[in-house]
Amino acid sequence: MASFTLSEVQAAFSAVVLQTKQNKFCDIVTDTRFVKKGVLFVALIGEKFDGHDFLQAAIEQGAAGVLVSRTYSEDQLHDLPVTVIYADDTLKAYQLLAKAYRRRFSIPVIAITGSNGKTTTKDFTAAVLSAKFKVLKTEANFNNEIGLPKTLLQLQATHQVAVVEMGMRGFGQIAKLAEIARPTIGIVTNVGETHMEILGSLANIAKAKAELVEHLDEASVAILNADNSFVAAMQSKVKGKCVTFGIEKPSDLRAGHIKTVHKNCTEFDCTFKGKTYSFVLPIVGRHNVYNVLAALAVGFTLGLSAIEMQKGLAGFTLTKMRFEIQQVGLYQVINDAYNASPMSMKAALETLAEVASARKIAVLGDMLELGSVSVEAHKNIGKLVADQKIDALITFGDMAAHIAQEARTAGVKLVYTCNSHAEAGKVLNEILQPDDTILFKGSRGMQMEKIIDLI
Ligand code: ATP
Ligand code: MG
Repeated sequence: MASFTLSEVQAAFSAVVLQTKQNKFCDIVTDTRFVKKGVLFVALIGEKFDGHDFLQAAIEQGAAGVLVSRTYSEDQLHDLPVTVIYADDTLKAYQLLAKAYRRRFSIPVIAITGSNGKTTTKDFTAAVLSAKFKVLKTEANFNNEIGLPKTLLQLQATHQVAVVEMGMRGFGQIAKLAEIARPTIGIVTNVGETHMEILGSLANIAKAKAELVEHLDEASVAILNADNSFVAAMQSKVKGKCVTFGIEKPSDLRAGHIKTVHKNCTEFDCTFKGKTYSFVLPIVGRHNVYNVLAALAVGFTLGLSAIEMQKGLAGFTLTKMRFEIQQVGLYQVINDAYNASPMSMKAALETLAEVASARKIAVLGDMLELGSVSVEAHKNIGKLVADQKIDALITFGDMAAHIAQEARTAGVKLVYTCNSHAEAGKVLNEILQPDDTILFKGSRGMQMEKIIDLI
C-alpha cells in the first residue's frame, strides 16, 4: 500500500487542495473495486470511462480523499465529505505520485522494452531474481502509462527489486515511463515491425525504444541484444555499463548448444566472463533463449550465481497465450494467440517446426497495425510457412489471406482462407488427424483463441 500524507501529495505535483477533511491516505487507487477505508481515489478519464462518475461509490467505500480534474461548487463539495484535490490532468498527477513514491525505494528497478518478448523477459527476469530477492513485477501486461505507475505504487519495504515492462506506441512514451520509474537496469529485447502504423519505419521504432537507454544514467546498466542490429547500435548511447547478449554475434553473454528436449523444454549453454554454464528452460523456442539471456544478464549483474538462477528458472511459468502448449484430446495445441507481429510470427513458426513430431498445422490471423508494409509482411509469412514445411495452413482475416495466397504459390498443399472463427473451426475439425500439432496465432484483435474452443 502506497501511503501518502496530504503534503506529500502536494509535493509530488502542483495539487490544488479544494477541501481538507483528512490529510493521510493509506493507498492510491484508481478503480473503485479496490477502494478501501482511507485511500486516495484518483478519478482517471479514459476512452470508455470517467472516474468522476464513481466518486460517490469511492466515498461510500471509505475513500479519505479524491483527486479530480473537475472544479466543484461549494454545494457540490459539501456532498463530497472527503479531502478533494484538483489537478488539470489526473493521469499526469497519478504518474507523478508514482514517480515520487518510487523514489522512496533505493532498490534496483529493471525496465524492459522492445518490440517482442517484453512480458516473457519480464517474467523470466522475475523468476531468476526470485531465487535471491523479494521481487515486485508488472502483473500480466500492465506496461503503459497507467499500468506502470500502478505497478510502482505496489512497492513495499520488503521488496528488494522491481521488474517493470514498458510498452509504447509512439515517440516520447518510453521516455515518460522511464522518467517515472527511474530504472537502474534497462533491457531492450529487440526491434521489429510493431506499431508500424504510428512510427512508420524500423529506424523510428528503434529511436523510440532507445529512449530507455538514453534515460539510464552513469551508475546504471543497459542490457542489449547484440544480434538485433538496431538494438546493438544503441550501445553508442549507453552512459553507464553495458552487457550484450545473443546467440549469433559475439556478445558478453552468449548462448550455444541450444536443444529442444521433450517437446516443452530447452537446454542451452551460456558463456559469461570466460565461464560456461548450462541451463534448462521449462519452455521451447529459440526466441525464448534470447528472452532468458536478458534475464540471466540481470542475474549476473545483481550477483546471482548460475545455480541460484537455474533454481529461479525452474519456477517459471509463461503468461497465458504465449506459446502455451496444451493437449486437447488427441491433438497438441499451441496457444500463441496473445498477439502477433512479423518477428513473433517467424519465431512461432520456426518453433512449431521444431517441436511438432507429426503433422504441423498453422492457424493464423491478421497481424494488425502494420500500415503500409502490411501486405508485404503477410506475404513473407506465407513464404515462411512453406519454408518451415508446415503441412496445412488456415487463415482468418483479410490480411491473413495474403499469407494463404503466398503459401499456396510457394507449394503448401493444404491452404484454407476463412472469414470467421466459426468457418476456421469447421475447416480445422475437418482436416484434423490424431497427433497433429496446431499453432494458433494472430494479433490480439483477431482473438484466435476462440478457434481453439471449437476443436
Ligand atoms: P506486447 O507488446 O503485446 O506487450 P510483448 O513484447 O510483451 O508483447 P510477449 O507477450 O512476451 O511480448 O510475447 C508475445 C509473443 O511474441 C509471444 O507469444 C511470442 O510468439 C513472441 N515472442 C516472444 N519473445 C520473442 C522474441 N524474443 N523474439 C521474437 N518473438 C518473440
Ligand atoms: Mg507485453
